Amino acid sequence: MSLNCVFCNKPVFGLGGLTVPLKGPAHQQCFQAYNVLKRTFQKLDITALNDDELRDLKDLVLAEENDRRRQNEPDGDDIELF
Ligand SMILES: [Zn+2]
Repeated sequence: MSLNCVFCNKPVFGLGGLTVPLKGPAHQQCFQAYNVLKRTFQKLDITALNDDELRDLKDLVLAEENDRRRQNEPDGDDIELF
């Protein structure tokens, strides 16, 4: 098992290191930076989706937005926002 940080790929020595579940060893600073930057929505880590899944999610969000906009403007034109 490698003792390199899963985020920056540099060796992790004793103190200052931790183990990220399902990933491996990491520096505390790297793990904190990752937690700040990671793109999660509720429990969904969108960086873990493949391209097709990400596109599906985007389509779903756009469809929902269009639907709500239509409901909020019953007299408005039927504009598709894509
Ligand atoms: Zn690191």
